[in-house]
Amino acid sequence: MKNKRNKSSGNIDTRLVHNGRNPEEHFGAVNTPVYRISTVLHSSVSDQSRARKNPDSLITYGRHGSPTSKAFEETVADLEGGYKTIAVGSGLAAICSSVLAFVKAGDHILVCDSVYSPTRRLCELHLNKFGIETTYYDPLIGKNISDHFKPNTRIVFTESPGSHSFEIQDIPAISEVCRPLGIKVLLDNTWSAGYYYKAFDHGVDISIQAATKYYVGHSDAMLGSITANKETYDQVRETSRILGYHAPPDDCYLGLRGIRTLSVRMQQHEKNALEVAKWLEGRQEVHKVLHPAFKSCPGHDIWKRDFTGSSGLFSILLNPVPDTLVNKMIDELELFGLGASWGGFESLILRTQLTRNIADWDNKYPCVRLHVGLENTNDLIEDLRNAFRHLIQS
Ligand SMILES: *Cc1c(COP(=O)(O)O)cnc(C)c1O
Repeated sequence: MKNKRNKSSGNIDTRLVHNGRNPEEHFGAVNTPVYRISTVLHSSVSDQSRARKNPDSLITYGRHGSPTSKAFEETVADLEGGYKTIAVGSGLAAICSSVLAFVKAGDHILVCDSVYSPTRRLCELHLNKFGIETTYYDPLIGKNISDHFKPNTRIVFTESPGSHSFEIQDIPAISEVCRPLGIKVLLDNTWSAGYYYKAFDHGVDISIQAATKYYVGHSDAMLGSITANKETYDQVRETSRILGYHAPPDDCYLGLRGIRTLSVRMQQHEKNALEVAKWLEGRQEVHKVLHPAFKSCPGHDIWKRDFTGSSGLFSILLNPVPDTLVNKMIDELELFGLGASWGGFESLILRTQLTRNIADWDNKYPCVRLHVGLENTNDLIEDLRNAFRHLIQS
C-alpha cells in the first residue's frame, strides 16, 4: 500500500528516493514543499504547550525546524545510519555545535592533524578562550590514541579521509578505546557523504556532514547536518538550540532534492575520479596521488576494509616545480573551476598549502586538490593534458 512503506526497508538507493516525502500530507505533491515559517499558530494554550513539550515531532517555531527541515533530517538520519539528525546552516556550524555540546572549561580534546582548517581555527581561536585545550594527533595513530588521553579528555575529533592529505583513520580502533571511558568520537564524514562510509557501524557517536557538498550537490546552497546516536542526540540538539543554529527551509529543500540523485552522482563521481586519478598517476609531473583507493594513499588498507567506495575528491603532489608554473597550469585549465568547496556536479581544482601542527609535511611537492565532476573524463583529461604543458620549465 502506498502510505505504508517502512522507511528503513529496502536498499539505500531506494530509500534516498522515497524517504522524507509524504505526498498525502501535501496535496499529493511528490516533494515536501518549502515551509517558510517563523511564527507557528496554535489553536489553544494546551495545544501550544503540547507542541513545546515535543519540539522534535511537532512544529513550534521557525528556528526549531519546519516540515522541510524535518524531511531533510529524517532522510539524512537513515542515510547515515544514526538515531536522529539535526540540520544546521553550514558544515562548519555542524562541527561547532557538535564540539561545543561535549566540552566545558578545563576540558581537553583530541583533534586529528589532518583536520579541515576552520575546525582547527575553532580550537585555536575560540575554544582556547574558554580554557579548553586541544592536542593534535597523527591521523594514522589508531588505537594508540589512548596514549594521548588525559583524565579530562572529552572528545576525539576525527576526519577520514583528512582534508587535502587524505589519510584514512582507523575509526573502529579509536572508538573501541574511547567508548569505555565515555570519550565521544566525532567524525567529519563529508568525503563519503555517508554513502560510502557507514560511520555508526564503525563506532562513532556523531557523524557530521557539510551538506553543502554532495547533498546539495549543485554548488548553490549552504547546509550542514549532525547525525547522532541515541546516547548523544539530546545533548547536541539542545546545544544547537541554545546557539540559535537553524537550517533555512529553502536550503533544506535543495539539500533534499540533491539527495534524490545522490546515488547516481556518487557512483559517477567515483568512476570519473578514478579514471582521472589513474591518468595522473602515470604522468611524470606527478610525484604522488593521494586518493584513498590508491596504494600510495596513507591508510589505503583501512579504506579497503571499511569503505564501500570513493568519492570525487583527491589530491596530487607534483614533482618540485616553481610555484609560478603550478599557478600557470591551474590558470590554463578550462573545465576545472578554481574555487573553494566541492561536491557539486562540476570539476574544481585548488592549490593547497597544508597546515600541520605535528606532522613534518614536505611542502617541496606542490599539493593540488581536484574535485572530479560529472563531465566526460576524456574531456577532463584533455584539459589537464593541455594545462600540464605549462609545468615544464623552459
Ligand atoms: C567544506 C567542508 C566543511 C565545511 O562545510 P561548510 O558547509 O562550507 O561550512 C567541513 N568539513 C569538510 C571536510 C569540508 O570539506
